[in-house]
Amino acid sequence: MTRASPDTADVLPRTGAAELLARMLQAPADAPALLCVSSRLAQHLFETHARAAQAQGLLAWETPQILTLDAFLQTAAEAVRLDLRQQGRALPQLLRPQQRRLLWRLTIDETRQEQPLLRAAEAAQLAAEAWDLVHEYELPLPLPATTPDVERFNHWAQQYRRRCQALGRIDAQGWRVALLRAIAEGQVPVPRRVVLAGFHEPTPLLRRLVTALQAAGGTVEELEPGGCEPRPRLLQAADAEQELRAAAAWAAARLREQPQQRIGVIVPDLGSRRAAVQRLFDEQLCPQADAVDAHSLARPYNLTLGEPLSATALPQVALRLLRWLHEPLPYADATALLCSPAWGGGEDERLHRAAIDARLRQEGHVEVSLEALRHYARSDALRNRCDALMALRQPQRRATAGEWVDVIGAVLQAAGWPGARALDSEEFQAHQAWGACLAEMGRLEPFLGRVPWSAAVAQLREIAEQTLFQPQSPASSVQVMGALEAEGLEFDALWITGFDDEHWPAAVRPHPFIPYALQRERGLPHACAAQELDYARRLTARWLAAAPEVLLSWPRQEQDRPLSPSPLLAPWLEGAEALPVQALPQSWLAQQDTPLEALLDAQAPPLPLDGRVQGGVRLLGDQALCPFRGFATHRLGARRLEVPRPGISAADRGNLVHRILETLWRELRDQQGLLALQPAQLEQRVGEAVDAALTRLLREAPQRLRPAMRTLEDLRLRRLLAAWLEQEKLRLPFRVIELEGRAPEQQEGGNGEVEFEGLRLRLRRDRVDELDGGGLVVLDYKTGARRKLPWTDERPEEPQLLIYALTGSAVLGVAYGRVYAGDTGFEGIAAAGEIAPGIAAWDQVRQTADATGWEALLGRWRGQLHTVAGEVREGWAAVLPKHPRQTCRDCDLHALCRVRESVAEVAEDEA
Ligand code: SF4
Repeated sequence: MTRASPDTADVLPRTGAAELLARMLQAPADAPALLCVSSRLAQHLFETHARAAQAQGLLAWETPQILTLDAFLQTAAEAVRLDLRQQGRALPQLLRPQQRRLLWRLTIDETRQEQPLLRAAEAAQLAAEAWDLVHEYELPLPLPATTPDVERFNHWAQQYRRRCQALGRIDAQGWRVALLRAIAEGQVPVPRRVVLAGFHEPTPLLRRLVTALQAAGGTVEELEPGGCEPRPRLLQAADAEQELRAAAAWAAARLREQPQQRIGVIVPDLGSRRAAVQRLFDEQLCPQADAVDAHSLARPYNLTLGEPLSATALPQVALRLLRWLHEPLPYADATALLCSPAWGGGEDERLHRAAIDARLRQEGHVEVSLEALRHYARSDALRNRCDALMALRQPQRRATAGEWVDVIGAVLQAAGWPGARALDSEEFQAHQAWGACLAEMGRLEPFLGRVPWSAAVAQLREIAEQTLFQPQSPASSVQVMGALEAEGLEFDALWITGFDDEHWPAAVRPHPFIPYALQRERGLPHACAAQELDYARRLTARWLAAAPEVLLSWPRQEQDRPLSPSPLLAPWLEGAEALPVQALPQSWLAQQDTPLEALLDAQAPPLPLDGRVQGGVRLLGDQALCPFRGFATHRLGARRLEVPRPGISAADRGNLVHRILETLWRELRDQQGLLALQPAQLEQRVGEAVDAALTRLLREAPQRLRPAMRTLEDLRLRRLLAAWLEQEKLRLPFRVIELEGRAPEQQEGGNGEVEFEGLRLRLRRDRVDELDGGGLVVLDYKTGARRKLPWTDERPEEPQLLIYALTGSAVLGVAYGRVYAGDTGFEGIAAAGEIAPGIAAWDQVRQTADATGWEALLGRWRGQLHTVAGEVREGWAAVLPKHPRQTCRDCDLHALCRVRESVAEVAEDEA
């Protein structure tokens, strides 16, 4: 056993692996027990033993005693328990990990009033860690009260011990003391000979176990570690992503060359980067995992350190359902739940729920309740499911943990969890693990008392968060591990990442609840820099000896901070190489010799002969901005999901202005009607129209227009409309002949369809005025930011007004009516000037002055739109944004058109 510090004298005798395995096969009954530092090493030695047996031609052999330290202690504990029971005695019941966690939390909750800012869950975790360290390193309790934190811990520790005694329970630390005593006194049958494997950094517990085994007359040896000549290859990467990708590509290439090789990749901070590591290893070794319908796959690599059960799909859905029973969910959680197949009655219902989700987002529901789902449900099955769930609500009830477990089961059953489809292997294991969490929850009953539903669900969530889920996977040649999991293992090739000066050696992390001086004196882990450096040196040396081929790498940069190689790499730094940038998955690279076939995919099928297509005149604007945008939006129906935000939307603001002006002009009819009103009368009319529009919005979307906001919006609109009507008074006399697509006296209709350049387009003009001297002016209200004017744009992005002019008769002018705070007035072009302030004669506008007349200008507009309409008819759908940066910034289709892969400016912009 190598020691944690150089001044420790005792060194155990060593035995070689080959000799030990031979003995295990020849005389299994007399063979020693092999105690391993990790289950991974135990598995490895188990497999090595099996291979040795097969090599000797054996068809069957006795199972060797190869087990982890925890398994060994557990077996010994069972023996003690059995022995005591036979003697008619019993030890106090052992606290389970969840019970212990809860006891610490309850202990800390008691003092919350004195420290209201204390975060109980984190404090409980730290206190439990400190308690373990105190016992493991046999520190005096109470600890010397050097800081208020230590003093606080002393108090908590005292209370925790009292609670355990009152409940008649024993903590794992107390239980171990009793167990080691029993082993030392020979009361427990233990192997006469034990060999330790991989314990290069022995803990005080292990030392005490060795002493106890020796006191009981046994012998303890240490397995000889493998030793390769350290000849590392050093590699520097641009950043951590490139480093991991290169490691994954290297593992994939090695695996292809020799599938039987043992390949290791060590990622020291794997726990916090698991998702990124899995993504990059999937990309290189398992690209099929990216498929939309990919279920859990048997990956060709093994990733250690599971993820919290609460983060896996089925338990996540279950936890959301339980929370949803009593409170609305934020829209992002609601979307995940509504679109999940892990509950309900099957695919049809899931699609129905997904459609409801899109609608709720569109309507601006920032939170979604069960009632909202029921309201929009169009199927009896879904309505009944909502009713069944709501019937299980018990808002006032306080119950025991066991009683709530029953209710939770009923809620999940009513919800149809875990869904109607067959579970795959990983889901099945997660389902089993969830069952175990519920059982754990039930065992908290004596500690928790009677609690409300919210506390029970919070407790269950905590259990699921604390439960690590690592689905079983087939044995694999590629192992991706954290820093400690490679202890004792040997590989054919090993890559160790993260060798930069910030992370290796690791930063010092003394425990806040234990006096610092005491930590240093007793050699507690992570207590001082010299100790960390020493530890990093020893671990590095073991890694270097763990394989004949070892690669060490570090990233040159983390975010905007430059990083240097770890000082521990100094002896080999001269030969360091820079990693080439490699972004392509191995499966693609493997095909690089295959001749590429060019495929032009910018051409969609032409339009049907009737020229019908969704989207009205906006279609031509989108096509002008980008042919793919026009095609995807209007022919494929691609839309992004709305992101609900609190308050009324820009579209609401536009609709309010449209409705108010429609109401006013239906009554006023012409400019004379406007001018005839006294200021007070006009104010009253505007106020009534504003009130009617807001009342309607409140009825249609109460979730967006809250009562307090209504008052503010009312005031804003009155001012805005008053300013706008002043502009209307300054125009030449006019009469309104069309409002929102229909005559002022008409109440219904308004969505006309016109034939334009071979397309059938829906058309709805905001307003058409007839001038006193004859001729029409078409108005389009604008309530948002200014855009490029269509008459100055050769490929018009906003062609509505041009199309209105071209599809109407006797149109003498077109104009935007800007109804925007601080920017109110007309902006237009006409056959002659003076129609209204802001509407210029065509020959006064620089871009149109070269036309030979108004009719000629209309002809030019037709020609421009003819080209764009032709593209639509023919199905031209190239990814060709008009002004890449600006156009794509205002578009939601990036994921569909993949513009960043073909247009460099957009990729740069996004980067
Ligand atoms: S993101 Fe840009 S390239 Fe893609 S569809 Fe939209 S406008 Fe076109």
